[in-house]
Amino acid sequence: MRRTALAAAAATSLALAALAAPAASAITTSDHAVASTPSAAIDKAALPIRVKGHAGRTASSTNITYHNGPVMTASAGTNAYYIWYGAWAPGSQTILRDFAAGIGGSPYFGINTTYTDRAGLKVANKVGFAGETTDAGTLTSLTDAQIQGVVSSAIVSGRLPKDTNGVYFVLTAAGVTASSGFLTQYCGWHTHATLSGSDIKYSFVGDPTGPKISSCAQQTTASPNGNPGVDAMISVLAHELEETVTDPDLNAWYDRQGAENGDKCAWTFGTTYAAGGGGLANMKLGSRDFLIQRNWKAGASQGCFLS
Ligand SMILES: [Zn+2]
Repeated sequence: MRRTALAAAAATSLALAALAAPAASAITTSDHAVASTPSAAIDKAALPIRVKGHAGRTASSTNITYHNGPVMTASAGTNAYYIWYGAWAPGSQTILRDFAAGIGGSPYFGINTTYTDRAGLKVANKVGFAGETTDAGTLTSLTDAQIQGVVSSAIVSGRLPKDTNGVYFVLTAAGVTASSGFLTQYCGWHTHATLSGSDIKYSFVGDPTGPKISSCAQQTTASPNGNPGVDAMISVLAHELEETVTDPDLNAWYDRQGAENGDKCAWTFGTTYAAGGGGLANMKLGSRDFLIQRNWKAGASQGCFLS
């Protein structure tokens, strides 16, 4: 889902994907109200989702439809790149890398193969963890423009390749915020921009660890990998990744209210089980358990699924 970025200067409609505050009821932001969809096995109901681009509110009651824009259908799949910002603990990084390496080919990511482009090509159930770099910046609050600058810098400097089949994730460590609304309006977002002459897709996802962790974490104490902030990031990463592959330029797959696939199933988890490492999980990717939101299946039988 999306909204017009800040009134007039909205050339870059950030497709904020985000999920904030699993609070209990609808929250109204300055530009739209968002209610949400109780339905998970876990009883955190409402998840305000803030989105830039099309106006609207969230709802999962309408089908998702195709609006003719590009879809990431490369047969080799999508390449995930990480850009670490802030003071990251190696143990946290390992969990996040394992997610990127494990999601491709999973029954869960396979849901995205129900999405096609204008030529009828499907999103491939393939994701590669294609590279990572650390940004040397030390800011504790980043504007949307600065986040774009972090991506641009990684590409221009050659620390990461320029890849139009890539999704560049700016991952901020605990204690670093995004000034357009991390932890108050959203938990992450995705968008695209022309960088170095190419259409580059990128996303922000922050570690919510700290006093406001409950705004962006389903589980704030025990969690499958013993790291509630990073475990929470994983679900947001999945949300942004699946939205990016199906709606990379914000003009492909979304419903009549502007909700993208991830938006339509945000904060719903389906059937869960007790994870060996603690807390609840709903899927295993590689050797790790994760609790990841469901994703919306396109086509004839639409709805939120785990596989
Ligand atoms: Zn979203």
